[in-house]
Amino acid sequence: MKLLEYEAKNIFENYGIRVPEGVVINNPDEMMIHLPGLGPDVVLKAQIDVGGRGKAGGILMSDAANAPNTARELFSRTIKGVPVAKILVEERLPIEHEYYLSITLDRSSKQIMILFAETGGVEIEETAQKDPEAVRRAIVNPLLADVPQFLLRSLTGSAPKEISTVINQLYHVLVEKDALLAEINPLVTTKQGVYAADAKLILDDNALGRQGITVNRDLTEREKEAELHGFSYVELAGSIGVIGNGAGLTMATLDLIGQLGGHAANFLDVGGGAGRERVCRAVRLVAGMPGVSVIVVNLLGGITRCDEVARGIVDAGVDQQVIVRLAGTNETEGKRILEEKGYLMLDTMEEAVQAAVEATE
Ligand code: GDP
Ligand code: MN
Repeated sequence: MKLLEYEAKNIFENYGIRVPEGVVINNPDEMMIHLPGLGPDVVLKAQIDVGGRGKAGGILMSDAANAPNTARELFSRTIKGVPVAKILVEERLPIEHEYYLSITLDRSSKQIMILFAETGGVEIEETAQKDPEAVRRAIVNPLLADVPQFLLRSLTGSAPKEISTVINQLYHVLVEKDALLAEINPLVTTKQGVYAADAKLILDDNALGRQGITVNRDLTEREKEAELHGFSYVELAGSIGVIGNGAGLTMATLDLIGQLGGHAANFLDVGGGAGRERVCRAVRLVAGMPGVSVIVVNLLGGITRCDEVARGIVDAGVDQQVIVRLAGTNETEGKRILEEKGYLMLDTMEEAVQAAVEATE
């Protein structure tokens, strides 16, 4: 789950990293209340989950007198299609230099990777492309309580010493918050010291419970419902809805759709022993995603009884065509129920997927 800048800054601050004075406002009127505390120059920053906000017009500088108008202007914008509902208003820092600092979980080495560059800011991607050497990297064993001094020295080079402290603090954030990414770009120096002028934090979705977060707000309504009912459910971009039981069969169904030139819209694994109600819920959930024009149900009856599955599909009564392949326990009865209601039930997975792909052509 991605945190917004102001949420990440709150956490960074708890770990001792300095952040600019600031307040979050939800409308231009709130600007007036907070202005006195913020000094003569401010920065207004749209709180949206969009990369390259600055370049896309999501960050505006203003003096205090014009701040309400500037806030009104920023609230009226949509940045890369995302409307601005919250603005972080901060004191404007007199920046001397911008650095880049990013800490991630490195999947290949299964360790923590720290990236640091002496020239940070909005051009970091171009810098990294033109001059890969400009971005220094260090790999840290996650069992270490702190980033070793020799690594900090090799990362920071001639940068001020306080930068090393921030790297270590951000390392603690990553480890203790179960984050996949913790980034400060730019990390800036001013006469008053080192500040995180921007903040990014992505938490590991699998660790949200441990972090005391009950709702993953990055999920769609359907993904949240699926989670609630214990379905494995993923959304893609095609038009065929897929329901299977067991991860293997479900993935095989997806592969076959791809091989036959089709595109899955989503897929749902109902798990083992799914009864009538569970199947009904699953079909409605998959059908509820915009863009799903046909649904293929591929289930193997073991503990799962085919007649129960058939009744669940009929109960769901969705608008889209549902093509079914059912095999196993009580197969004949399942087939009778479905065919009586006019559903297409095919004997093999190849035939069922073929029919679904043809229906979307
Ligand atoms: P991003 O585009 O979403 O990464 O937004 P950032 O928060 O990183 O801001 C983009 C750029 O705006 C920074 O690289 C700075 O150059 C500038 N900026 C942001 N905050 C301040 C500030 O307090 N003072 C000054 N002078 N510039 C700032
Ligand atoms: Mn930034």
